[in-house]
Amino acid sequence: MAGRVPQDDDIPVTSRSPDASLTQDDSFLATSRAGLVYPWGDAGPVGGQTIAIAPGIRWARVPMPGSLGHVNTWLLDDHNDFAIVDTGLCLRLCSDGWKALMAEDLAGQQASRIICTHLHPDHIGLAGWLAKKYDAKIWMTRGEMLTARMLLGDMAEAVPDEVIMQWRSAGWSTEQVDQAKKAGWRRFQASVYPLPRGYVRMVDGDVLDMGQHQWRVVTGSGHSPEHACLWNEKQGVLVSGDQVLPRISSNVSVSVQEPDADPLGEWLDSIDKLLNVIPADVITCPAHGEPFKGLHVRLRALRDEHRMRLYNLAEAIADKPMRAVDSFSYLFNRTITDEHLGLATGEALAHLKRLEVEGRVRREMADDVCWYHPAT
Ligand SMILES: [Zn+2]
Repeated sequence: MAGRVPQDDDIPVTSRSPDASLTQDDSFLATSRAGLVYPWGDAGPVGGQTIAIAPGIRWARVPMPGSLGHVNTWLLDDHNDFAIVDTGLCLRLCSDGWKALMAEDLAGQQASRIICTHLHPDHIGLAGWLAKKYDAKIWMTRGEMLTARMLLGDMAEAVPDEVIMQWRSAGWSTEQVDQAKKAGWRRFQASVYPLPRGYVRMVDGDVLDMGQHQWRVVTGSGHSPEHACLWNEKQGVLVSGDQVLPRISSNVSVSVQEPDADPLGEWLDSIDKLLNVIPADVITCPAHGEPFKGLHVRLRALRDEHRMRLYNLAEAIADKPMRAVDSFSYLFNRTITDEHLGLATGEALAHLKRLEVEGRVRREMADDVCWYHPAT
C-alpha cells in the first residue's frame, strides 16, 4: 500500500464525538444471561497481553472510553502471520493499546489482513491506521464498506433537517430538539481513520483460507447492514462481532439513512439463521464481554426478549395510541434521559416498525407527529 507510515499525531487524543459512536453497540434492553458458561471467567487480557482461546486463535482487548470500556480484537493465525478482527476507535487511547500489543505479545509478528466485522467506529476506527502500519488490506462485506463510505461522505456541520423531522415525529419536545441541535451533528469521520480506497470484499459463505485454519463468513443484519461473523468449524469457534453479545443486547435501531427499514425483522431473521447454521457447542468470541459457551441459549434469549417486548408494546397500543417516546417505558428497564434520547428513539422505532410490518399497529401523522394505533 502506498503512502507514509501513520504517525501518533494522526490519532486524536480526545474524541470529537463523545457519545453515540462510542455507545451505539450498547442497547437499553434487559438481557438474560442464564445458561451461559465463561471458560475464561469474567476477566480479559490486559495491556499488551493476549490470551489463547484455541491453537492459533488469540484474544486481546483494545481499551475504549465510555460504558463499554473495551472492544475485543481477535488475532487469527494466517499462514505465518496473523489476521486482525476489529480494531477500536480512531483515538489515542486505542492506538496506544495497539502499540502495547505490538511491543509485547505481537512483537516481531506481521498482520496479514485487517478484518472488520462491521462499520461501527469501535470496529473500523483504526482499520486504516493498522492497514498502513502493517501494509495489509482491509477485508469487509460490501454492505458494511459502502455504508461506511456513505457516512464518511456526510460533511454536514449542523444537524440535517430530516433528522430534526424524525425527532419531532417521534414526539420529542421543542426543548429536547433544541438541546440536541445545540449538541451538533456527530460526524462519523471523527472516529474513523481514513480508509484506503480499495478493500477486499467478503461474501456470506466465503471460506477464508488461513493455512491451518479455515474461517467461513456468516453474515447477519439488523445491528448493521451486512455484519460478518467468522466461523471455524474444525475448531468450534465463532468470532461473532456484535451479532451476538453475551452481556448486553446489541442496539437495533431505525436510522435516518433508512427511515422505513425494518431492522428488527432483519435481526430476528439473523438469529434464526445463526441457530440453523452454527452449532450450539461453539465457543463464541464476541466484540464486547468475554468468550462464552451457550450460543443457542443466548440467541433464543435475545429473540424471546424482543418478542416479549413486542407483545407488551402491542398490548399497550391496543389500550391507547402512542408516539415513539411513549413506548420507552414498555421497552426499556431504565429511565431514558435526554443523553440517550436518540438511541432510545432509534430502538423504539425499530420495535414499532416491526409491529407495523406484522400488521399489529398502524401509523397516523398528526401535526408532524407519528402516532401508532391498533391495526384494527
Ligand atoms: Zn456495532
